[in-house]
Amino acid sequence: MAQRKTWQRERVREALSDASGFVSAQTLHATLRDEETGIGLATVYRALAGLAAEGAADSLQSPDGEALYRACVSEGHHHHLICRSCGLTVEIEAHDVEQWARATAERHGFTRAEHIVDIFGLCETCARETERDAG
Ligand SMILES: [Zn+2]
Ligand SMILES: [Zn+2]
Ligand SMILES: [Zn+2]
Repeated sequence: MAQRKTWQRERVREALSDASGFVSAQTLHATLRDEETGIGLATVYRALAGLAAEGAADSLQSPDGEALYRACVSEGHHHHLICRSCGLTVEIEAHDVEQWARATAERHGFTRAEHIVDIFGLCETCARETERDAG
């Protein structure tokens, strides 16, 4: 029975790699449904949570509070610049943030501090389109 769950999870992982940028569980589930894999939404949620826990996927909260996932290109700790219009994602390092987070935690006597810092904005292409639409 464990076998069956493994292929479903692998299929979710593949779909996540094929997606460009961050996607929600619903979006991935819709893709998998179109391929008639028979994978349920609950399984997609579980698979994504598992991948995120292993560090094989990034997860973050969208500005509207939805959980989004992405297969990560970089290994280890990093940050993201995300276009809120098209989902384009750039993986970035942020040495200033690392220093600030460590110093702030230490100042308050915290150890094992972690942080999540992602920047949402409009990418160049979307900003240009927005300008054009505005006239
Ligand atoms: Zn990433
Ligand atoms: Zn964009
Ligand atoms: Zn950091």
